[in-house]
Formats: sequence, C-alpha cells, structure tokens
Amino acid sequence: MSNLGTEQNPLCAAIVGSGPSGFYATEALLRAEPMVLVDMYERLPSPFGLVRSGVAPDHPKLKQAISVYEQIAESPEFRFMGNVTVGRDVSVAELKECYHVIVFTCGAETDRQLGVPGEHLAGSHTATEFVGWYNGHPDYRDLTFDLSHETAVVIGQGNVAIDVCRLLAKTVDELKHSDIAQHALEVLANSRVRDIYMIGRRGAAQAKFTHQELRELGELADCEPVVDPDDLELNPASREELADRRNRANIKSYEVLQQFASRPPPTRGRRCHLHFLKSPVEFKGGGSLERVVLVKNRLEGEPSHQVACPTDEMEELACGVLFRSIGYRGVAMPGVPFDDRRGVFPNQDGRIVDGSGVVPGMYVAGWIKRGPTGIIGTNRADSVATVQSLLDDLPKLDANKKPGAERLEPLLAGRGVRVVSYADWQKIDAAEVRSGEARGKPREKFTRVAEMLAVLPEAV
Ligand code: NAP
Repeated sequence: MSNLGTEQNPLCAAIVGSGPSGFYATEALLRAEPMVLVDMYERLPSPFGLVRSGVAPDHPKLKQAISVYEQIAESPEFRFMGNVTVGRDVSVAELKECYHVIVFTCGAETDRQLGVPGEHLAGSHTATEFVGWYNGHPDYRDLTFDLSHETAVVIGQGNVAIDVCRLLAKTVDELKHSDIAQHALEVLANSRVRDIYMIGRRGAAQAKFTHQELRELGELADCEPVVDPDDLELNPASREELADRRNRANIKSYEVLQQFASRPPPTRGRRCHLHFLKSPVEFKGGGSLERVVLVKNRLEGEPSHQVACPTDEMEELACGVLFRSIGYRGVAMPGVPFDDRRGVFPNQDGRIVDGSGVVPGMYVAGWIKRGPTGIIGTNRADSVATVQSLLDDLPKLDANKKPGAERLEPLLAGRGVRVVSYADWQKIDAAEVRSGEARGKPREKFTRVAEMLAVLPEAV
C-alpha cells in the first residue's frame, strides 16, 4: 500500500493563486487526515487576491476575511511563494514534476466583452481596470481616468457596477480614511462627475446587485439615487418572479428601488440614475468617447429565464467616461486545458479534464472553476468540494516522493526571481500599515512590485 500522505511521504500540493479559493483550499488540505504540505504560488508579492485588490476600500468588513487567511498562513505546513508567475517563471510541467497535486485557484482576471462598435474608444474602460486602479493593484497603477466630464456611465447592474458607481459618487471625506490608493483619491477629489448612469439590460426585478449594496447608494453624503417609477412597472413574468419567495434577494432589491423611486427629485449634489431594459449598441466619438447609443429592450421568456431582446427604440446618452461592468472572465494558462467559451478550466467536480478525460493530479477551485459568481464565502464550499475530490483520488496518485519548493526555489533564484516568503510579505504589510498611519488610513498600499521588493533584504 502507498505511504503517500504520511510523515515519511507527505502529499505535496501546489496552490496557484492566493485569493479566497486558494486559502480555503489550503485550509481544507491542511485539515485533512493525510499529512499535506502546501506551497502557494502567487504572481504578486502580496497575497489575498480580490480581497486585497477587488473588495471596495470602503467595505473594510469584507476584508476581515484576511484574518482567517493569516491564521491559515501560520501553519508550519504552509509556504507562500510570492512574486512567482506560473506559466512564465515556472512552467506547469515543472510544477507537475515537483508536486503530487496542483490546485489552480487563479480566479477570473479579465473582463467579458460587449462586442459592440467603439467599445475600446478612449474613455471607455472596464470595471476591472478602475477597481484595480483605485485598489492600488500594480497592473493598473499607471492607467488614467478622465473624470473631467459631468456624465459617467456604468454598464451592468451587478455588485461590481454598484462599487464603481459608489466610488464615483462618494466625497473625498467618505473615502479618505479607507485603504483606497492615494493616486486614486487625488483624482477622485478633482472629479467633475455629477450624473452617474447605471444601465442594466434586463428589468428592475432581474438586477444582479444585492439589496445591501443597493441600499448604500441611498445613504451617501452628496449623491442621491434616481429611479423612474415607470421603470418599476413589471411584465406578468416579472410579477411572477417577485411573487416567488425563492427570489428573496430580487424582492428585497426591488423594494429598495421602490423606496428610491418615491424620493423627491434631488436638488443638490451628484445623482446616480438607475436605468433598466437598455443595452449599449455602439460607442461613438471622434478619437475618444462622446456618446453611447442604447437600444431599449423588452423581456422575453418564462419567469426566471427572461432574456433581454432589443426593440427598435434607440436613444443616445452623451458621456465622456464609461465603465463596462458586465462580469469577469478567466484567462488561459500555458499547460492547462481551457474552456474558451466559458472562460474557465474545464473540470468535473474540480478535477481538470481535457479531451481524453481527467488530467491526473490537476484540480481547480473558485472562479476559474465555476465562473465569476458568488461572494467571498461561496468559495469556501467550492474549495472544500474540490479538495474532497482530490482526497478521494489519493490512492490513484503517483506515490513517489516529491520535492516541492525545495527544488523549485533554487531553480527560481537561478532565473532571477526573488521569491517572496510569507515572512517577507509580513514586512511589506507592516510597512504599508506604517505609511497609512500618517494619513489616518488602515494602510497605504504599495502600488508597484519594485516598491514592495525594496522593503525586503536581497535574497540570499
Ligand atoms: P454579475 O453579478 O454577474 O453582474 C454582471 C452584470 O452585467 C449583470 O447586470 C448582467 O446582466 C450584465 N451583463 C452581462 N453581460 C452583458 C451584456 N452583454 N450586455 C449588458 N449587460 C450585461 O458580475 P459582477 O458585478 O462582476 O460581480 C461578480 C461577482 O462578485 C458577483 O457574484 C457579485 O455578487 C460579487 N461581488 C460581490 C460584492 C459584495 O458582496 N459587496 C462586491 C463586488 C462583487 P444580466 O443579469 O442580464 O446577465
């Protein structure tokens, strides 16, 4: 019988990606009966994925998940391998040689495309870019957003769209004690945006945002939500949807929208207009965005399966800056099968599959497994399910001893990669917290990899 998973021959696991699903997969592996060693690979020197660079800076409670990840990282069986890009600094084939199993938890790093003319005009941005920029993600540090326009448009009605609207709508005083990147705070401080339009392709009963996030739009210091009561009229199928208690989330959001619609028209400050049943069909402008052409939609289909269908009614909205917030999408990695249609790593119960079936030793969890849905906590059950598949497969795995990072660390050093350990990250973390203190912020993030590495001693 194989001794894999014992003190003499621990199961060596590589996790690729250090966001919530990576940490929950680590937690499930370390809690399992067999002896497991986990090495977590992350392309940035900083861990925590979207909890650090996706969660809005004014939502500190959501970031408390980090304290759970910090505890997991304290385990002696855990090693953080930061600043290492899998697929560039080390190949998936090399990981396979050094580990019994690899769990890919690399999230959904890019955006869905609208596929309409003018989508990429200057002034038309993805929500990912804006969110990464105000959260100090190094990839987006040098982007510029021209907020000298009075009208901003946000396409999509999910929670990311709400985050984008809220960050555009808040005053500097509402943001300055958060961990928002300073460069973003300075640009937002000079914003001339007065009217923000959040545009959804389906109706008020189908919007994807959650009522807690929606409600916040009605609690801002200098911005009022604007909803046209006519937009809340429902077709019979939507009425049926809202009569079904299983759609509690949509019912609650609809109630908040009704409250917004009953408010008197705002007389001061910014306005956040929520428009429904409209889709962009073209972005127009000579060199940069000037107008978005919208088609009015009607809903078709059975209750809970209604889709937006275009009518022949069009309208144009003048705007100089626009954010496309229509969902994220996973990115392919060399050496890993990819489902290009869905933007995920194809899998059965977390086991990666290719044309000929299950690929031994390769697993997936989180957004790159199921697509970009759910809240942070959703990833816990998802990662636990993948780890269960992995543990069920244990008897079938190659039981030869594997060297893990012991072999890869010198190899990476030879390639000029400064691997950032968890202790290194803690130094970076402490330096960020110190530099935030002066501004009354929980931290001032380093927004460039070189700045993070400068905190650390040279690698030996
Ligand atoms: P999402 O919830 O899937 O919302 C995407 C939005 O884009 C929907 O309104 C969708 O409309 C629309 N859309 C998609 N394709 C479109 C197209 N071709 N044309 C026009 N509109 C289109 O995605 P998300 O906002 O990126 O959020 C991702 C996940 O993160 C969600 O689970 C979200 O709840 C979560 N999140 C949570 C928080 C929080 O808890 N505070 C914050 C941020 C994100 P349809 O409904 O018609 O598809």
